Amino acid sequence: MIQLSTTSVETYTPDSDWKMRLSQSKMTTSELLRYLELDKHPLANTDAEKLFELRVPKAYLDKIKKGDPLDPLLLQILPQNKELLKVEGFTDNPLDEGDYNPVRGLFHKYKNRVLLIASSTCAINCRYCFRRTFPYDEHRQSRLDWQAALDYIQSNKEVDEVIFSGGDPLIQTNQSLLWLLQEVDKIKHIARIRIHTRMLTSLPERLDDQLFEGLNALNTPLVIVTHCNHPNELGNDLRPIFDRLRSANITLLNQSVLLKQVNNNAATLSELSKKLFQLGILPYYLFLLDPVSGSAHFEVSLVDAKTLYRKLQSELPGYLLPRLSVEIAGMPSKTLINIQLSDNETIL
Ligand SMILES: *Cc1c(COP(=O)(O)O)cnc(C)c1O
Ligand code: SF4
Repeated sequence: MIQLSTTSVETYTPDSDWKMRLSQSKMTTSELLRYLELDKHPLANTDAEKLFELRVPKAYLDKIKKGDPLDPLLLQILPQNKELLKVEGFTDNPLDEGDYNPVRGLFHKYKNRVLLIASSTCAINCRYCFRRTFPYDEHRQSRLDWQAALDYIQSNKEVDEVIFSGGDPLIQTNQSLLWLLQEVDKIKHIARIRIHTRMLTSLPERLDDQLFEGLNALNTPLVIVTHCNHPNELGNDLRPIFDRLRSANITLLNQSVLLKQVNNNAATLSELSKKLFQLGILPYYLFLLDPVSGSAHFEVSLVDAKTLYRKLQSELPGYLLPRLSVEIAGMPSKTLINIQLSDNETIL
């Protein structure tokens, strides 16, 4: 595995080259550790890899420091002993989304935004993922199946934004993804299309010419939300990708998850915001971890999160400060975490 040449982004033919990269992202823990020149790893566990496969694309892998068992990028993808522990409060379905699933592949939880499960897998498998236990097979969709979701959007005029999520929507072929985007684009009352993806930062080859041109041709304003947790994930290799997207007037945002041992300090998060800005991406959300089984070792307490956030706020201009939030089942939106005035305080 992992004997790759470097190829320029411009020379990719539709789908074939990024798919080749994608196929190389599956590996075993021992292959990973060998590549990273780590004889063994005190936290690694091959049984955890059976619960949730190890996948890491080359562009991300290259940013992990060789020989460092505590590298913050490594800890996001390494199958660990602690995933096998049962921890109270951490469950397979922490967000209980069942009530908000009117048709297959579509979640309508918030008033005017619907979310499409536009893919069943990802290029990178993040160990803290709240969808690591998601029954994706129940949501696998053909064009015919998508018609019900499109009809639902068409007949719900209060919906003005469609969010492509997953899994990673960009793992679909250009043909399927662009078809679905174009179908949504045709719906008159949709004012924004949003794509959530971790692929542009972990497998940048994905933005081939055909995909870029397809995105550029949409009439509805497009927002892309990258999922990046640590400044080391961002390098100059990504600049052409984001320059290109910006040239098409696509709004670029990033959301992160606050993860113990990965990014739970103000200096790291401040650097992340600054590096995102350099690439033309603005911070959007900083989420507390969703309590999914196998992820408890990443948890940062609410109290610690607030302390860290106050420090972060003192280091950043307001526009580079992500919104510290948490997803609480049954709430009509993400829940913003208040670190400042409470209702019963007075200003003067
Ligand atoms: C997070 C989420 C959204 C989007 O929320 P925003 O605050 O608009 O980013 C929409 N639908 C579902 C089901 C979600 O989980
Ligand atoms: S990219 Fe997102 S959905 Fe995919 S494994 Fe990572 S956190 Fe989960």
